[in-house]
Amino acid sequence: MEASLSQMKVAVLRLGAMGSAAAAVLARRGCKMIGFEQYLHAHNQGSIHGDTRANRKANVRDEQYAPLVLESYELWRRREQDTGAELLREIGGLVVAPSGGLTLTRSVATRPNMKLCMRSFPQS
Ligand SMILES: Cc1cc2nc3c(=O)[nH]c(=O)nc-3n(C[C@H](O)[C@H](O)[C@H](O)COP(=O)(O)OP(=O)(O)OC[C@H]3O[C@@H](n4cnc5c(N)ncnc54)[C@H](O)[C@@H]3O)c2cc1C
Repeated sequence: MEASLSQMKVAVLRLGAMGSAAAAVLARRGCKMIGFEQYLHAHNQGSIHGDTRANRKANVRDEQYAPLVLESYELWRRREQDTGAELLREIGGLVVAPSGGLTLTRSVATRPNMKLCMRSFPQS
Protein backbone atom coordinates (compact mmCIF):
# COMPACT_ATOMS: atom_id res chain seq x y z
CA MET A 1 0.00 0.00 0.00
CA GLU A 2 1.35 3.41 -0.94
CA ALA A 3 1.55 6.05 1.83
CA SER A 4 0.51 9.62 0.99
CA LEU A 5 3.03 12.41 1.60
CA SER A 6 1.08 13.70 4.62
CA GLN A 7 1.46 10.30 6.29
CA MET A 8 5.20 10.09 5.71
CA LYS A 9 7.96 11.12 8.07
CA VAL A 10 11.01 12.27 6.18
CA ALA A 11 14.46 13.28 7.39
CA VAL A 12 16.34 15.66 5.10
CA LEU A 13 20.10 15.66 5.67
CA ARG A 14 22.11 18.83 4.88
CA LEU A 15 19.96 21.91 4.41
CA GLY A 16 21.91 23.62 1.66
CA ALA A 17 20.48 24.47 -1.76
CA MET A 18 19.13 21.02 -2.47
CA GLY A 19 18.14 20.02 1.05
CA SER A 20 16.32 23.23 1.93
CA ALA A 21 14.44 23.19 -1.38
CA ALA A 22 13.42 19.57 -0.80
CA ALA A 23 12.42 20.38 2.80
CA ALA A 24 10.32 23.37 1.70
CA VAL A 25 8.45 21.33 -0.91
CA LEU A 26 7.84 18.45 1.51
CA ALA A 27 6.59 20.80 4.23
CA ARG A 28 4.31 22.60 1.77
CA ARG A 29 2.80 19.25 0.78
CA GLY A 30 2.00 18.43 4.39
CA CYS A 31 4.77 15.92 5.02
CA LYS A 32 6.10 15.53 8.56
CA MET A 33 9.66 16.50 7.95
CA ILE A 34 12.79 17.07 9.99
CA GLY A 35 15.96 18.66 8.61
CA PHE A 36 19.51 18.17 9.85
CA GLU A 37 22.08 20.87 9.29
CA GLN A 38 25.43 21.43 10.95
CA TYR A 39 25.07 25.23 11.10
CA LEU A 40 22.32 27.56 12.26
CA HIS A 41 19.50 28.65 9.96
CA ALA A 42 20.62 31.07 7.22
CA HIS A 43 24.31 30.32 7.79
CA ASN A 44 26.89 31.49 5.29
CA GLN A 45 29.08 28.38 5.05
CA GLY A 46 27.54 26.50 2.11
CA SER A 47 28.55 26.58 -1.52
CA ILE A 48 25.27 28.40 -2.25
CA HIS A 49 26.33 31.57 -0.48
CA GLY A 50 27.30 34.86 -1.96
CA ASP A 51 25.44 37.92 -3.17
CA THR A 52 24.48 36.51 -6.55
CA ARG A 53 23.76 33.20 -8.21
CA ALA A 54 23.94 32.32 -11.86
CA ASN A 55 20.97 30.33 -13.17
CA ARG A 56 21.83 28.98 -16.58
CA LYS A 57 19.70 27.42 -19.27
CA ALA A 58 22.45 27.60 -21.84
CA ASN A 59 24.87 25.10 -20.35
CA VAL A 60 22.45 22.35 -19.42
CA ARG A 61 24.15 19.19 -20.68
CA ASP A 62 21.68 16.54 -19.70
CA GLU A 63 18.12 16.23 -21.01
CA GLN A 64 16.94 15.19 -17.56
CA TYR A 65 17.93 18.55 -16.10
CA ALA A 66 16.11 20.59 -18.73
CA PRO A 67 12.63 20.45 -17.14
CA LEU A 68 14.15 21.13 -13.71
CA VAL A 69 15.93 24.23 -14.97
CA LEU A 70 12.80 25.52 -16.67
CA GLU A 71 10.72 24.91 -13.56
CA SER A 72 13.29 26.74 -11.44
CA TYR A 73 12.49 29.95 -13.33
CA GLU A 74 8.81 29.59 -12.44
CA LEU A 75 9.71 28.88 -8.82
CA TRP A 76 11.95 31.94 -8.60
CA ARG A 77 9.11 34.07 -10.01
CA ARG A 78 6.68 32.58 -7.50
CA ARG A 79 9.15 33.32 -4.69
CA GLU A 80 9.35 36.90 -5.95
CA GLN A 81 5.57 37.17 -5.65
CA ASP A 82 5.68 35.71 -2.13
CA THR A 83 8.42 38.05 -0.93
CA GLY A 84 7.84 41.16 -3.06
CA ALA A 85 11.58 41.17 -3.79
CA GLU A 86 13.24 41.06 -7.18
CA LEU A 87 15.17 37.80 -7.08
CA LEU A 88 15.70 36.86 -10.71
CA ARG A 89 17.03 39.09 -13.44
CA GLU A 90 17.25 37.56 -16.90
CA ILE A 91 20.15 39.15 -18.69
CA GLY A 92 21.18 36.65 -21.34
CA GLY A 93 24.64 35.27 -21.71
CA LEU A 94 27.54 34.94 -24.07
CA VAL A 95 29.09 31.54 -24.67
CA VAL A 96 32.35 31.58 -26.56
CA ALA A 97 33.26 28.13 -27.81
CA PRO A 98 34.46 26.46 -31.00
CA SER A 99 31.61 25.33 -33.24
CA GLY A 100 31.28 21.56 -33.09
CA GLY A 101 33.14 21.52 -29.77
CA LEU A 102 31.82 19.71 -26.70
CA THR A 103 30.58 22.91 -25.03
CA LEU A 104 28.04 23.44 -27.78
CA THR A 105 27.34 19.91 -28.93
CA ARG A 106 26.66 18.65 -25.38
CA SER A 107 24.41 21.57 -24.53
CA VAL A 108 20.65 21.09 -24.81
CA ALA A 109 20.24 24.86 -25.13
CA THR A 110 19.29 24.63 -28.78
CA ARG A 111 16.22 22.50 -28.05
CA PRO A 112 13.01 24.45 -28.67
CA ASN A 113 11.64 23.61 -25.21
CA MET A 114 14.49 25.59 -23.63
CA LYS A 115 12.95 28.76 -25.10
CA LEU A 116 16.33 30.29 -25.76
CA CYS A 117 17.13 32.66 -28.54
CA MET A 118 20.49 31.49 -29.83
CA ARG A 119 22.70 33.12 -32.40
CA SER A 120 26.03 31.81 -33.54
CA PHE A 121 28.68 33.87 -35.25
CA PRO A 122 31.06 32.34 -37.77
CA GLN A 123 34.73 32.39 -36.97
CA SER A 124 36.45 35.11 -38.94
C1 LIG B 1 32.15 29.12 -5.17
C2 LIG B 1 30.94 28.44 -5.79
C3 LIG B 1 30.09 29.18 -6.62
C4 LIG B 1 28.96 28.57 -7.19
N1 LIG B 1 28.15 29.30 -7.97
C5 LIG B 1 27.03 28.75 -8.49
C6 LIG B 1 26.13 29.54 -9.25
O1 LIG B 1 26.31 30.74 -9.45
N2 LIG B 1 25.02 28.92 -9.78
C7 LIG B 1 24.79 27.60 -9.55
O2 LIG B 1 23.76 27.10 -10.04
N3 LIG B 1 25.62 26.84 -8.84
C8 LIG B 1 26.75 27.37 -8.30
N4 LIG B 1 27.59 26.61 -7.55
C9 LIG B 1 27.25 25.23 -7.32
C10 LIG B 1 26.12 25.16 -6.28
O3 LIG B 1 26.42 26.00 -5.20
C11 LIG B 1 26.02 23.79 -5.78
O4 LIG B 1 25.77 22.92 -6.87
C12 LIG B 1 24.82 23.67 -4.81
O5 LIG B 1 24.91 24.61 -3.77
C13 LIG B 1 24.87 22.29 -4.25
O6 LIG B 1 23.80 22.19 -3.33
P1 LIG B 1 23.91 21.22 -2.14
O7 LIG B 1 22.64 21.34 -1.35
O8 LIG B 1 24.30 19.87 -2.64
O9 LIG B 1 25.19 21.73 -1.29
P2 LIG B 1 25.32 23.04 -0.36
O10 LIG B 1 24.46 24.13 -0.87
O11 LIG B 1 26.76 23.28 -0.17
O12 LIG B 1 24.71 22.53 1.01
C14 LIG B 1 25.33 21.54 1.79
C15 LIG B 1 24.82 21.73 3.23
O13 LIG B 1 25.15 20.58 3.98
C16 LIG B 1 25.61 20.99 5.24
N5 LIG B 1 26.45 19.91 5.76
C17 LIG B 1 27.60 19.43 5.22
N6 LIG B 1 28.07 18.42 5.97
C18 LIG B 1 27.19 18.27 6.99
C19 LIG B 1 27.14 17.39 8.12
N7 LIG B 1 28.09 16.44 8.30
N8 LIG B 1 26.12 17.50 8.99
C20 LIG B 1 25.15 18.43 8.80
N9 LIG B 1 25.14 19.30 7.77
C21 LIG B 1 26.15 19.22 6.86
C22 LIG B 1 26.38 22.27 4.95
O14 LIG B 1 26.54 23.09 6.10
C23 LIG B 1 25.47 22.94 3.90
O15 LIG B 1 24.47 23.76 4.48
C24 LIG B 1 28.70 27.20 -6.95
C25 LIG B 1 29.56 26.48 -6.11
C26 LIG B 1 30.66 27.07 -5.53
C27 LIG B 1 31.55 26.25 -4.60
